[in-house]
Amino acid sequence: MRQYATQMEAARRGIVTPELRIVAEKERMSAEELLPLVASGQVAICANRLHECINPEGVGSMLQTKINVNLGVSRDCKDMDVELSKVMAAVDMGAHAIMDLSSHGDTIPFRRKLTSQCPAIIGTVPVYDSVIHYQRDLDTLTAKDFIDVIRLHAEDGVDFVTLHCGITRKTIEQIKTHKRKMNIVSRGGSLVFAWMTMTGKENPFYEYFDEILDICREYDVTISLGDACRPGCLADGSDVCQIEELVRLGELTKRAWEKDVQVMVEGPGHMPMDQIAANMKLQQTICSGAPFYVLGPIVTDIAPGYDHITAAIGGAIAAAAGAAFLCYVTPAEHLALPNVEDVKQGIMAAKIAAHAGDIAKGVRGAREMDDRMADARRELDWEAQWACAMDPETAKRIRQERKPEHDDTCSMCGKFCAVRSMNKALAGEHIDIL
Ligand code: SF4
Repeated sequence: MRQYATQMEAARRGIVTPELRIVAEKERMSAEELLPLVASGQVAICANRLHECINPEGVGSMLQTKINVNLGVSRDCKDMDVELSKVMAAVDMGAHAIMDLSSHGDTIPFRRKLTSQCPAIIGTVPVYDSVIHYQRDLDTLTAKDFIDVIRLHAEDGVDFVTLHCGITRKTIEQIKTHKRKMNIVSRGGSLVFAWMTMTGKENPFYEYFDEILDICREYDVTISLGDACRPGCLADGSDVCQIEELVRLGELTKRAWEKDVQVMVEGPGHMPMDQIAANMKLQQTICSGAPFYVLGPIVTDIAPGYDHITAAIGGAIAAAAGAAFLCYVTPAEHLALPNVEDVKQGIMAAKIAAHAGDIAKGVRGAREMDDRMADARRELDWEAQWACAMDPETAKRIRQERKPEHDDTCSMCGKFCAVRSMNKALAGEHIDIL
């Protein structure tokens, strides 16, 4: 029988939980170093006490940047086993978290499959699921219906829930008067906004935040404070709607921490590159260092089909400036449901962005593999290069398809290989080019 409600409460009481010990080991920290970071909220260990197969991870700006993959059962992809195999493939490729965004049929069995079989952090967005779960129109749902779905997800072992608590009735006027180009692009945020306009009531996730905190405390569910007003185009970046919501998320972060409930704060969105670092700084200040979970940021609006790249550029800058968690973006973003190849491309792009950010911010051990790769490249040791590569299969395939004449180089420069020439020159050997 555990003696604490949440990882945060345990840390505040000086208890080293089994999950904290595992996270410390993964991050090359001592438990004593990690404990105050969890106690202060700078690191969240998202681990529902009922998610027994979890391989715990910590989310915090000083730790390795984590990546999330969105999957789930949908009208076009209803086979649970196929979807679960995609989940497991995503975890094998390096996803630390899976957000179950199921939008079709009975969502309970798939969610329970995830929390009983998947070792990654599991997240959900209860407001989407409310419509599916009750099979009723949005405006007929009550605040109690939404809160009951949060409880259902908590009881199913979900580790974090995205809740769009930061918009209020004031936001409705702001959106109308501020005239954003893209209004609200957050799916959950748009549902909450629509519910408020149709019912005339206050945002239930804001109004009943204390009740929600009690559920999250009971199961140790981390709240990912959703950013309903995240900019959906460059023109809306860092505008009044986004920043006003961020201020409220800062207030809610403190209220959650008063009840030992762990928090992450979600962020942009679409944003010009020159605004990203400032946004990370602002979030860290306003939200007292809570881990920042960014959705992109996508740095240009005109590259549909390549948004895994636009998001990776923004994600790398965000991670280097303190973001803790990147949501992957696939080439299908803005266009269609991603297929298996899109998922792979999205994961690889997010992994590269996270890793580049970790190197820049000096996360412990982040550069080791890069230094080993440099040694392997200098020695033209191809096997050692595969061992360091993020995706060795792709690297091997490309080399194999375009084999060089001489095995010690590659077909890019052949005998003009700079590495080979330098190795020979420094060894005092003759360099044969022709
Ligand atoms: S041939 Fe050119 S690209 Fe290939 S290993 Fe040598 S220097 Fe690098």
